[in-house]
Amino acid sequence: MSAGFAETLDWSKGDGLLPLIVQHAHDGRVLMLGYTNSDALALTLDTREVHFWSRSKQRLWRKGESSGHVLALVSIAMDCDRDSLLAQALPAGPTCHRGTPSCFDGDARAHPWLNELETLIAARANGDPASSYVAKLLAAAPARRAQKVGEEGVEVALAAATGDIDGIRSEAADLLFHLLVLLRGAGLPFADVVGELAQRHRDRD
Ligand SMILES: [Zn+2]
Repeated sequence: MSAGFAETLDWSKGDGLLPLIVQHAHDGRVLMLGYTNSDALALTLDTREVHFWSRSKQRLWRKGESSGHVLALVSIAMDCDRDSLLAQALPAGPTCHRGTPSCFDGDARAHPWLNELETLIAARANGDPASSYVAKLLAAAPARRAQKVGEEGVEVALAAATGDIDGIRSEAADLLFHLLVLLRGAGLPFADVVGELAQRHRDRD
């Protein structure tokens, strides 16, 4: 971030305060909205942890200073009018004081259905294997989930090799579903996989 970033911003409208939206750097979910001033912004850029100006406490506030749920800054950008900021960050825990990932209820994530599906799979994990396909897969040995992903991958490849567009769509959906089940079984959040892709993309820049 260039040293002149803060000077470029229009601090006049908000009496030295600018709204700062924080977005999860991997899944796109809006985590919270706070206010920053020039000191809080300088601290954010220096420490790479998101700082705010607390309007209620009238002091600088390092997000997570008491809870430990800090927001590690990935990037920060201004809007078209230079009077609001969007930070991409990786949260160390729930961002909201209520213990929820976001201060906003509902789902504003960039891949909402895949994330929703991940949540549904997690909810079925402890279900009855006799009536729930997901519970049955998750109760089985890891090799069973690995086998399913392998089979679905081959089916995607076969459909692609024969130019079967409907087949590619259907088998790719099966593959993504079983991949999410495999990730659940391995205890790996989908956001970590998206994060891995995003990291590679950033490394290339
Ligand atoms: Zn909150």
